[in-house]
Amino acid sequence: MDETVRIMCPSLTCRRVLGVPSAARGKTVRCRNCGTNIKIPAAGENPLESKKPPEAKKPADPKKPGDSKKNAA
Ligand SMILES: [Zn+2]
Repeated sequence: MDETVRIMCPSLTCRRVLGVPSAARGKTVRCRNCGTNIKIPAAGENPLESKKPPEAKKPADPKKPGDSKKNAA
């Protein structure tokens, strides 16, 4: 798999989002923008990558009873 891991540069003055190959997980890469060494979290630890569990679908608000019938009268 050729997954790309997105990670934000921890440097407050940089904050660049870098895309690194998933093979770099657990390793350290250097930000190409500012040169800061960034530790790539292992799988499942990347907050940017974490996928929210699908929320249980709530039923939409109950529709108000249509009063189109009133038109007929
Ligand atoms: Zn940077």
